[in-house]
Amino acid sequence: MEKPARLILASNNANKLREIREILGGRFEEIVSLREAGIEHETVEDGETFLDNARKKAREIAALSGCCALADDSGLCVDALGGAPGVYSARFAGVHGDDQANMRLLLEKLQGVENRAAHFTCAMVLVYPDGREISAEGYFYGQIGYEQKGSNGFGYDPLFYIPEFGCTSAELSPEQKNAVSHRGSALRTLVARLEAADA
Ligand code: IMP
Repeated sequence: MEKPARLILASNNANKLREIREILGGRFEEIVSLREAGIEHETVEDGETFLDNARKKAREIAALSGCCALADDSGLCVDALGGAPGVYSARFAGVHGDDQANMRLLLEKLQGVENRAAHFTCAMVLVYPDGREISAEGYFYGQIGYEQKGSNGFGYDPLFYIPEFGCTSAELSPEQKNAVSHRGSALRTLVARLEAADA
């Protein structure tokens, strides 16, 4: 199939943009952030699943721009909390993006709880201007620790202990994290599906 001209990433996150350019760069003439595309738009993330939210973001940007759009949505699911905070991960403690408050609340809710199993989920959706869609999910399994460790990454990383590495995801380098994370894995599955669809 002919290479589409432009892919708009439904985000302004520089790390996501770099990672997506590395992996999808050869498939589009250019890959740009929302800001670089001159789009100021905030999707209301009111879906019940990560996939619903990612699809909504990608569809809105594809409709606004007439270009291909790629969106992701991710969060932390804790077994002992029935999958919470899930789609509410960024605003678990009430204020969007207050990582310290979110981690404090998580530790409070897990006080005295032995089952610390948790995973991050990432859903990615690529929407074409003609409405076709390719989606993928990725997972990253670990345990919620008892105290914060490490200063890399963001969000719940300082509490997310990975037994195979013997450290938290905030102690991994960005390259190490991309190789095993929910986001990296969703992106690699998406690329495999693109190849299979010859899109
Ligand atoms: P977003 O979908 O990238 O906006 O992520 C939503 C929220 O999930 C973030 O604000 C974090 O609280 C949490 N989250 C998602 N991915 C990660 C991760 O890789 N590490 C730590 N927290 C994450």
